[in-house]
Amino acid sequence: MQNYIKHKIEELIKTGKEPQYESLSAIEFLTEFDYATKYLSRLLKVRPFVMYILLFKRAYFEEGKRTITVKLSELGENLLSDLGQPMSHDVVKRGVNDLVRLRIIEKRPPKPGQINEYEVKLPSEIREVKEMIKKSEEKTDEFVDDSKDDFYTDPQKRIEILKREDYKCFYCLREIQRDDFYLDHLLPRTKGGQNYKTNLVASCRTCNTKKNATEQEEFLLQVYRRGLITQEEYQGQKEKLVKLKEEYNQIESGI
Ligand SMILES: [Zn+2]
Repeated sequence: MQNYIKHKIEELIKTGKEPQYESLSAIEFLTEFDYATKYLSRLLKVRPFVMYILLFKRAYFEEGKRTITVKLSELGENLLSDLGQPMSHDVVKRGVNDLVRLRIIEKRPPKPGQINEYEVKLPSEIREVKEMIKKSEEKTDEFVDDSKDDFYTDPQKRIEILKREDYKCFYCLREIQRDDFYLDHLLPRTKGGQNYKTNLVASCRTCNTKKNATEQEEFLLQVYRRGLITQEEYQGQKEKLVKLKEEYNQIESGI
């Protein structure tokens, strides 16, 4: 379906037909079409929905205007009913009337001797669809709380800690590779420390071995005294340590 539309749009662009005032841009057309299939389809039964798609395409794809005249006898003439018969005029009429009743399209007062004129609303202009779009956008913006996730055993999440440390050992700041690093618990597991991201730092093999049970502050000081990091770096890492521990305590105490 998407390919068909793309092809049609390319064709339209090639023929150089001036877009009319009410015309949609290609992207707008695709976005609205997407809203129709994603959201409007949930509001409507199959037949009225099919009628809407036909009217929407006629209005915005073929004619480039929102108010169109339509011969109902021609609408859906190439579609078959469930029984494999051409869709009857009656079915089409009922589908279109449903759309009018639901205010998804508006029927213009008939002028004598004229065929039916309808104003076709865009999916994004329909109140219920608007609400669904808003809801789905809120969902994607929703904050995912991973503060109590296990960052120690989940390989993907272990990498996130490494990324947070900019692929460097937390203690000596040497670069470490994603296939050769360790995670160190700030509050040890033996003291009830959790596998939360606020309780973990990445470290290199050497630091991991040397540190053993030394407190982080003490070990950082040793690393600084051995000249592996500058005073500025030492202060920076110490501050990071304080922040992580504060955050961890807040999560643990449920604040
Ligand atoms: Zn290190």
